Amino acid sequence: MKRSISIFCLLLLGHIVSFGQNNIVEKYGKLQVKGNYILGEKGDTVQLRGLSFFWSQWMGQYYNEDAVKWLRDDWKCTIVRAAMGVEMDGYLYDPEGEKQNVEKVVDAAIKHGIYVIIDFHSHEAHKHPEEAKKFFAEMAQKYGKYPNVIYEVYNEPLQDPTWKDDIKPYEDSVIAVIRKYDADNLIVCGTRQWSQMVSEAANDPIKDVNVAYALHYYADTHKKSLRDEAQKALDKGVALFVTEFGTCNASGNGRINKVESEKWWEFLDKYKISWCQWSVADKVETASILQPGAPAKGGWTDEQITETGQFLKQELLKKNSPLLNFKTNKSAKGKK
Ligand code: MG
Repeated sequence: MKRSISIFCLLLLGHIVSFGQNNIVEKYGKLQVKGNYILGEKGDTVQLRGLSFFWSQWMGQYYNEDAVKWLRDDWKCTIVRAAMGVEMDGYLYDPEGEKQNVEKVVDAAIKHGIYVIIDFHSHEAHKHPEEAKKFFAEMAQKYGKYPNVIYEVYNEPLQDPTWKDDIKPYEDSVIAVIRKYDADNLIVCGTRQWSQMVSEAANDPIKDVNVAYALHYYADTHKKSLRDEAQKALDKGVALFVTEFGTCNASGNGRINKVESEKWWEFLDKYKISWCQWSVADKVETASILQPGAPAKGGWTDEQITETGQFLKQELLKKNSPLLNFKTNKSAKGKK
């Protein structure tokens, strides 16, 4: 009798493991670009919404497991972005320290079942290709087997470098290194002019099995004309990924423009474009989601969240919560 009970329990457990989805990564699995969309392993169209951490060298206190878990549980983030600073006391000066910041966030995202972007947060990455290749080779070797991980090889190229001669050759060379160790995970490529000129990239796309292009906007600065630029890129058949955006102006300050933010969200929802908001920080600026001194390990009360934070949290709860009602009733059926 005892033995049959344990066999039943094992069968039931097997059933729960195979059919139950406990988190968003179990739900979608590996991400794959197809045309304008990012698909999950079973062919679902995937739209991820979450938050970007601030430059790692200046806001490293929030790069920890508890904060990631809090963003998943309390804010319903399905993705976070580790923005590893490169210049200005970043990776170029302290590669081990900055890599550790990134790894804390990536390890936590894997453990807690959300997606994570490893972002080479630089405006001049094409001037440091060797450092970028070394970094991404390590990341791909360590994390290439996890469906959670997305590589972002160049945060925001400035206006002056060209797509053809500067940005694309750099990205091609970094992608080649990543692909040595990781044949398939999604890679996001920055585009000229702070990741806005996505149609330039779409006209001369990167040849790789799984690439999307970064589109960044700040809703009080970039409005319909940038959405038109995005539309041009989409019409060429590429996939976009908003790895960073703000609800304020491009400096990270000024007012919160809720009307334009809503227009952007409508546009992104229409094309199922994933996004991360800038940023998890307690710096005194409009873009920050936290009030100065908010604890490093999450657990933030309403008083510790800024107006921007409240606005974002509402959107995340509204749009992500329905996606997180995992259907475990198949495992319940097994009980009969
Ligand atoms: Mg892989």
